[in-house]
Amino acid sequence: MKIVRTFKIKLNLSNDQISMIDNTTQSFLEALNYASKVSFDNGEISNKPALQKIVYNDLRAKFNLKSQMAVNVCTAVCGSYATQHSNKVYGVLAKYKAPKAIYSYGRDYSFLDDKKVISLNTIDKRIKVPFKVNNYFKKYLTKDWVFGSLELVKLKNNYYAHITVNKEIEEQPITEFKNIIGIDVGQNFIATIYDSKEKVKFYKGRHLKDMRAKYKHLRKQLQEKGTHNAHNKIKAINQREQRTMTYINHCISKSIVDYAKETNAIIVLEDLKGINLSCKVKRENRYYRVSWAFDELQRFIEYKAMNSGLKVMCINPKYTSQTCPKCGHVAKNNRDKKLHIFKCRACGYTLNDDLIATKNIQHKGYDERIRLEAV
Ligand SMILES: [Zn+2]
Repeated sequence: MKIVRTFKIKLNLSNDQISMIDNTTQSFLEALNYASKVSFDNGEISNKPALQKIVYNDLRAKFNLKSQMAVNVCTAVCGSYATQHSNKVYGVLAKYKAPKAIYSYGRDYSFLDDKKVISLNTIDKRIKVPFKVNNYFKKYLTKDWVFGSLELVKLKNNYYAHITVNKEIEEQPITEFKNIIGIDVGQNFIATIYDSKEKVKFYKGRHLKDMRAKYKHLRKQLQEKGTHNAHNKIKAINQREQRTMTYINHCISKSIVDYAKETNAIIVLEDLKGINLSCKVKRENRYYRVSWAFDELQRFIEYKAMNSGLKVMCINPKYTSQTCPKCGHVAKNNRDKKLHIFKCRACGYTLNDDLIATKNIQHKGYDERIRLEAV
C-alpha cells in the first residue's frame, strides 16, 4: 500500500529570488487560465495527452515555461475538469486566482547540501534557496520517502513549498492480526474503545470541561461588551479552544494507535460521512458533537495507524446504538437515554449505554474480517 503525505517548508528567499519566483508563479497562473480556456473551448478536455498536444507549444512560447512546468499546467487543468465532471459539473470554466507553480522532483526542483538547500527552477534561471522545516516534518526528508510534486504558495509575503512525498508500506495479510479494536468517538466521551480481549477504555478529556467552562465564561463577558476589540478577542479564544482540541485529539489518537501496535490490531471506526451531526444533539453535549473535532480525531487515528502498517476499517454506523450486542435484536427502545441504560427488549441484556455502540462497532469489524478472510 502506498501512503502519500504533504509537508511544507518555508523558503528563505533573497530579494532577487523573490522577484524571480513572483514572475514564475504569475506566469504559471496565467498559463493555467490559458490552458483552462483552451480545454473549455474544446469540450472541457480532461485527458492530459490530448490537452498537451494542443497547448504545449503555446505554454512554452507565450509564458516562458520550462518543459516540465508546461506539462504540469496540463496535469493541473485536466485534474480540475476531471474533478468537476466527477461532481457532475459541466459547462463551467475552471478559473485559477492565486499565483502558484507546480514542480516535479528531479526536473524542476531537487535538494542539495545534505538537504539543507533546495534548488528551484524559475522562468529566469535556476536558484538555490535555504529553507526552514519544522521538526515534525523533518522525517519526510529522510530516505524512507520518495519526493513527488511541489507547489509554491505565497502566504503573507512569504513563500512556502508544499511537497508531496510517498512511501510503500507492506500490508500484513488480514489473518495475521491478533486483535480488533472498535472505536466510538464523541458520545459521552471523546472516544471509547472495546477490543477482542474485552478491554474497555474511556477517553474522557478531563480538562476539557474546565476549559470549556472557562472559555464560555470569558466569551459571555466579552459578548456583553460588544465592542470591536471584544469581538476580536472572542475570535482569538475560539482559535485557542480549537488548538487545544486538536492537541487533545493528537494525544488520544497516539494512545489508541500505540495500543493497537502493541496488540497488532485492526482498527474499526464508524464511517461518519453523511451523518447529520447537528440534529438530535442535546445542548450540553454540543461540544463533543462538533463535527470537525470528530472528523479530526478519526483522521488522526487513521493516519497514524496507516503509517504503522495497521489496517483500518470503516463500517456503516447504522443501528450501532440500537442493536443488542448479545442477541442482535434491533430496537429504538432498547436504549433508555435518560437513564443511560441499554436493556435489550428481546433477551434482557443490560449495560451502561456508553459502551453499546463501541461493542457493536467492534462486532461489525469482526464480521467484516470474516467476510474478507473468506474472499
Ligand atoms: Zn438481546
